[in-house]
Amino acid sequence: TRAEITYFGAGPALLPTDVLETASQALLNYNDTGLGIAEHSHRSELATNIINEAKADLASYLDFSANDYEVIFLQGGGTGEFAASVYNLVGAWVARQHAAVLNELGASADEAAVVAALRERVEKHLKVDYIVTGGWSLKAYQEALRLLGPEYVNLAADARTINDGKFGKIPDQSTWKLSEDAAMVYYCDNETVDGVEFPEFPAVLAPRADGSGPIVVADMSSNILSRRVPVSNYSLLFFGAQKNLGSTGVTVAVLKKSLLPPTITQPSPALLRKLGLPVPPIVLQYEIVAKNNSLYNTLSIFDVYIAGQVLKRLLRTYPNKVDGQQAVSEKKASIIYAALEAHPEVYRVVPDKSVRSRMNICFRVTKNGNVDEAEKAFLKEATSQGLTGLKGHRSVGGIRASNYNSIPLEGAEKLAKFIEAFAKV
Ligand code: PMP
Repeated sequence: TRAEITYFGAGPALLPTDVLETASQALLNYNDTGLGIAEHSHRSELATNIINEAKADLASYLDFSANDYEVIFLQGGGTGEFAASVYNLVGAWVARQHAAVLNELGASADEAAVVAALRERVEKHLKVDYIVTGGWSLKAYQEALRLLGPEYVNLAADARTINDGKFGKIPDQSTWKLSEDAAMVYYCDNETVDGVEFPEFPAVLAPRADGSGPIVVADMSSNILSRRVPVSNYSLLFFGAQKNLGSTGVTVAVLKKSLLPPTITQPSPALLRKLGLPVPPIVLQYEIVAKNNSLYNTLSIFDVYIAGQVLKRLLRTYPNKVDGQQAVSEKKASIIYAALEAHPEVYRVVPDKSVRSRMNICFRVTKNGNVDEAEKAFLKEATSQGLTGLKGHRSVGGIRASNYNSIPLEGAEKLAKFIEAFAKV
């Protein structure tokens, strides 16, 4: 039964049972309307209320200002955002250069001259920077290469180069080869597959005293809502819902409003074509989605509803909001790591201690030297005790315990006890 299992899957992840119970009612009959939440129009007032409440609750929980940041709900998952971040941030860069060229040549300059000047700037200076620290930032980098071509994409750091070709460390920030005025610097705050998490916001990307600084974009799919985020340091952060927020099917972007009209308007398709740059699909254009309060096209209100219920539950549970959850997340992770570290002859934590993730705890079972056999035995025995979803990602193998918000403290304790007990048999 559900009550007997603690599920450590990496995503989709465990959802709080009471949220699912409420949602199952809502699926049949939402607020006594006789219709389920998945049947109501996405343009109904009740759908808009669900969207607006989820936006407000997210801002309240993470403690950012809705005056400065727009929250949008998208589809296409984290993978869709690999593309969307490129299109939207390159578009914003072009818009800024366009304004600078008009300023330089005068508003009456002929169009061909403007395009020529802009083309030169694009060819000489357009760069998107990637900090690659694991499988997901690697995929995002590869998507940028696919969309823009290698001339515009800068691999500013690659963690594999300092760790025998494998992920598991974060290169020292002093070695990052950041571009001058990059359209964005992209990184993944928590690498779900490799168990690597940035311990804190990378200082080298922090805004300068005058407010200027790099345009920072982060993928927070697998650690959002688990610790305090200095939102004002980011131009964009995004996350799929299916780990810490809710059910699969909705993706959230938190976007600095100064990247939207009236401050910045995305370049027209005609101009992008003249510059040899890709034209974004309309569903990936933040400007369009934001203008329509996430309802440019049909959005799964059911998924937004679940996310909203999870946020309300977090706000009810933790009077001090994300800080409360952060303390619990740290405690759970430290209990599990301590159990692993107590038996170095049986377990090896994969990532370096300085960057190991609180959310995805990746380790190998090296007992008796036969890793394959030991891991099979570990998984089998764990499953028989109701500890499931522990198999590592197919690309790296090993064991991965995903310690998302929905894992209760008792669940982490149960796993730690099992780790101890398995080491002793
Ligand atoms: N980024 C991270 C950090 C992830 O963990 C995942 C999925 N596990 C993705 C992006 C891709 O998300 P999706 O499958 O929703 O496209």
